[in-house]
Amino acid sequence: MPKPIVAIVGRPNVGKSMLFNRIVGSRIAIVEDMPGVTRDRLYQDAEWQGREFTLVDTGGLDFAEDVITSQIRKQAELAMREADAIIFVVDARAGLTTTDEEVAKVLRLTDKPVLLAANKVEQFDLAKIPYYDFYRLGLGDPIPISAAEGLNTGDLLDELVKLLPEQEEDPYPPDTIRIAVIGRPNVGKSSLVNAILGEERVIVSNIPGTTRDAIDSPFERNGKSYVIVDTAGMRRRNRIDLPAERYSVVRALRAIDRCDVALMLLDATEGVTEQDKRIVGYAHEKGKAIILVVNKWDLIEKDDKTMNKFEKKIREELSFLSYAPTLYISALTKQRVPKVLEMVDFVAEQAGRRIPTADLNNLIREATQATPPPGDKHKKLKIFYATQGGVKPPTFILFVNEPELMHFSYERYLENQLRENYGFEGTPIRIFPRKRE
Ligand code: GDP
Ligand code: GDP
Repeated sequence: MPKPIVAIVGRPNVGKSMLFNRIVGSRIAIVEDMPGVTRDRLYQDAEWQGREFTLVDTGGLDFAEDVITSQIRKQAELAMREADAIIFVVDARAGLTTTDEEVAKVLRLTDKPVLLAANKVEQFDLAKIPYYDFYRLGLGDPIPISAAEGLNTGDLLDELVKLLPEQEEDPYPPDTIRIAVIGRPNVGKSSLVNAILGEERVIVSNIPGTTRDAIDSPFERNGKSYVIVDTAGMRRRNRIDLPAERYSVVRALRAIDRCDVALMLLDATEGVTEQDKRIVGYAHEKGKAIILVVNKWDLIEKDDKTMNKFEKKIREELSFLSYAPTLYISALTKQRVPKVLEMVDFVAEQAGRRIPTADLNNLIREATQATPPPGDKHKKLKIFYATQGGVKPPTFILFVNEPELMHFSYERYLENQLRENYGFEGTPIRIFPRKRE
C-alpha cells in the first residue's frame, strides 16, 4: 500500500528543512547507516499517531531556475500534482511577502489539503507577530509553529493526519510482481514499458490505480501476474508539458514504495548521474530488488571490451548495489527486452527466498570459525543463534552478546557468505544484531 506523500513548500529560509527534520527526527529510524547511500533530506518516511507518510522537502529539489519565485511556483505545482497534502511554510518573523502571495495563488487552485504553517513563532503573543496578515493568503487559519523549538508542531501534525486520504487496498492478486521502471526523463522508460506490454497479454489496460492519479499497467505472462506501477514520463505525451511535469522524483518514489522489483534505467550514452544515484539509493534503502538496465545500447559503438568497461564504471559509481544484475538493452530495437522479465522473475524469487534455520546456523558457525568476529580488548562479539526474520528483502536476526560489537565490515562479511551460498541476486540483505536476553 502506498504511503501518502506530504510536501513542504515555501520560499527559502522560512524553515522548511528545520520543519522537515523536526518531523522525521521524532521517528526512530529502524534501518540506519547504509554506507554508500547519501542520506537525503529530500524525502523521508515519517509517522504521527500511527499514520505513516512520506515527507518531501520541495526546497531540496533543483529545478534549474534562476528566479526564486518561478522556482518556488514550480515546487508548488509539483506538490499539487504529486502530493496528497501540502504544508505551506511562511516566516512569521519576516511577515507576508509577495513571493508568499504568488505561491498561495497557485496553491489555492488545488483541491488537495493545504496547511499554512506560520513558522518562527517562539512566543505566542500573536499581537506582536504579523500573524493575521497570513489570513490574506486565503488558505485558512495559519498554524503558528516554531520548527526550531518544536512548539505547536504536534498540533500541525494532528491537523495533517486528519486530512490525509484513507489508504486503499491494492486491487491485484497477492502473488503479483510489481515492477517500477525508474530513471531520469528520456532514458526510455515509456519505450521500455511499451516494448514489454507490446509483447505480453495486457489484461486490463490502464485501470485506475490505488491513488487518484496513478495509472498502473497489469499484465499476465505464462500464467503469472505482473503490474508495472506508474512512474513519471509514462503516457503523458498528450498532457501539458510543464517543466515540472517531467520531474520524476516524487512519482518515482511512490512507485518504488509500491514495487517488488525496481528497473533502474540508465542511458548508455550518458552513464550514471547523481539523480540516478539518489533514486536507486532510495530503492536500496527501501529493500527493493533492483535490476540495472542500461538502455539505448544500440547507440553505442562497440567492440569486445565495451560491455566490460561499462560494467566496471557502473560498479564503481553504484558500489552499494553490487548485488544488482545489469542488462544491456535497446527499448527501440527490442534487443534483449525479453530478458528483462526473465530477470524480474529471477530477482523476485531471490528476494523471497527463505533459508532453513538449521542451514543458516551452520553457515554462520562456519563463517565465524573461518573469520572470528570482531571485539575489543575486553569483549568479543559472540553470535549465539541466527534466524531469518523475513523476506523481500531477506532479513536476518543475529542473537548476540553485545550488538555494539558488530562492525559494519563483519556484517558485510556475513552478507557475502550468505550471498556466496544462497545467491540473493538482485536483492538487498538486512542483518540485525539483537542482544540475547
Ligand atoms: P529553508 O530554506 O526553508 O529550508 O529554511 P531552513 O530550515 O534552512 O531555515 C532557515 C533559517 O531559519 C535557519 O537559520 C534556521 O535556523 C531558521 N529557523 C528555522 N526555523 C526556525 C524557527 O522555528 N524559529 C527561528 N527563530 N528560526 C528558525
Ligand atoms: P522516458 O522519458 O524515460 O519515458 O523516455 P522515452 O521512452 O520517452 O524515450 C525518450 C527518447 O529516447 C525517445 O525519443 C525514444 O525514442 C528514445 N529511446 C528510447 N529508448 C531508446 C533506445 O533503446 N535506443 C534509442 N536509440 N533511442 C531510444
